[in-house]
Amino acid sequence: MPERYPPPGKYRVRNYMGKDRVMVVKCGGCHRIVRYLVEDIAAVKGEDWDITCPPYPCSTCGTRDAMGVFLKEATKADVGVMDIRRPWKVVTIQKWKTVKLGDKV
Ligand SMILES: [Zn+2]
Repeated sequence: MPERYPPPGKYRVRNYMGKDRVMVVKCGGCHRIVRYLVEDIAAVKGEDWDITCPPYPCSTCGTRDAMGVFLKEATKADVGVMDIRRPWKVVTIQKWKTVKLGDKV
């Protein structure tokens, strides 16, 4: 049986966590670039998240297939200049469904 490449678990977020590590995601469809702190991805997606996978589909064109991911070490020159997506607030949505009068919801 051929070995799977990359080996499972090699590119887990936990192996790349660092104070100034930035995950750069570039969409091949619309060329949008989004940057995340690796520690934020670990907090939201979990430390087992595969760092080679984009955490979300492109919010501009909706694709997930043509996205490239690479890591960057932030420098002092990036402070106050680089745009970073950070977890902000959690929104809850009230869902509705139609039931028969008297049915338990
Ligand atoms: Zn896109």
